[in-house]
Amino acid sequence: MNNKEIMDYAEEAIIHTYNRFPVVLDHGDGVYLYDVEGKKYLDFAAGIAVCAFGYNVKEYNDALKAQIDKMIHVSNLYYTQPMAEAAHKLVNACGLKKVFFTNSGTEAIEGAIKLARKYAWTRDNGSTDHEIIAMNHSFHGRSIGALSVTGNPHYQEAFKPLIDKIVFAEYNNLEDVASKITDKTCAIIMETVQGEGGIYPATREFIQGVRKLCDEKDILLILDEIQCGMGRTGKMFAYDYYDVKPDILTVAKALGCGVPIGAFVAGEKVEKALVAGDHGSTYGGNPLATAAANVVFDMFESRHILDNVNEVGAYLGEKLASLVERYDFIKETRGLGLMRGLEFTIPVGNIVAKSIANGLLIISAGTNIIRFVPPLVITKENVDEMYEKLDKILSEVQ
Ligand SMILES: *Cc1c(COP(=O)(O)O)cnc(C)c1O
Repeated sequence: MNNKEIMDYAEEAIIHTYNRFPVVLDHGDGVYLYDVEGKKYLDFAAGIAVCAFGYNVKEYNDALKAQIDKMIHVSNLYYTQPMAEAAHKLVNACGLKKVFFTNSGTEAIEGAIKLARKYAWTRDNGSTDHEIIAMNHSFHGRSIGALSVTGNPHYQEAFKPLIDKIVFAEYNNLEDVASKITDKTCAIIMETVQGEGGIYPATREFIQGVRKLCDEKDILLILDEIQCGMGRTGKMFAYDYYDVKPDILTVAKALGCGVPIGAFVAGEKVEKALVAGDHGSTYGGNPLATAAANVVFDMFESRHILDNVNEVGAYLGEKLASLVERYDFIKETRGLGLMRGLEFTIPVGNIVAKSIANGLLIISAGTNIIRFVPPLVITKENVDEMYEKLDKILSEVQ
């Protein structure tokens, strides 16, 4: 079947919750993907900030194949070595205490919410009226709990009632957050760098101020690093830029580099809040998924991924800044490392579609922002190739 035939075949049997791009991808190699007709694409999307090493990477594939031959799944009724190792590696990388593995980002958020509520429930002798402060323009996932803290009314509207007692505040506005705190507030949840909302890094003043408020009032700080964590910004976790630590961290996307795995990680204060029976998952942390996380952490070290993100990320930042200079319809560029946005004064849908047709996979964040979240192994030459393709399209659009 060719591209068109497979697209039609897919639409017959798949619920249309995505307006997919008209491409049927078949395989990848390095930072390139190929469709079923053999057309080549430079990948600056990485499966939405997931595939940190790109595609067809021998060390990663071999680790998964070896685990497949041993066992893929046993459930959480038993211990496995891959899970134990992955938990230690994640704890060492983030500086918190204990891990619960999930199968996705949204489930990590669900767990983080449950952990925060359980901590507050125990502390306050069983009271069940705790509030959580979340941010406008945030994105935390699509399950009901995660959707409830996602500050985008458009995603929420048709699915109400959502979970109760969520209060929204303005991101990077410390005064607004402070004004929303009550004696019922048990947690504040936010992304360290807002992703879907348009690539907005927290300001230092804001995140440190929120941390201070949380410390003063025994409120838990939940940092969602599902997109900005795992080296994406040039630090292993973006909060390392700000000298703060969360009480609860959520991770997913690049944690498995394509094998579905997420996690929430508990800091000292909350590491004992959940006890046997409080939470569970049939698949969560299974040997295949945690074998993936293990090889991912190993390769981050052996391949000096953070060094590459810092070097090539800075270069990407310069190139994007030069586009801001050159085109009137580009407003500004923001971001850290290899998580960058280019904000336009016009909708970017057409530019994204043209890029894909010209062999460059990029994605948007909101209507006016192009998001650059390439594999973390991308080179300066790859950035130049992206720049040339995009520049050509922008000059045509102009
Ligand atoms: C992608 C994302 C999620 C949701 O993760 P899923 O694996 O799609 O459920 C949550 N938070 C942030 C910041 C994300 O980028």
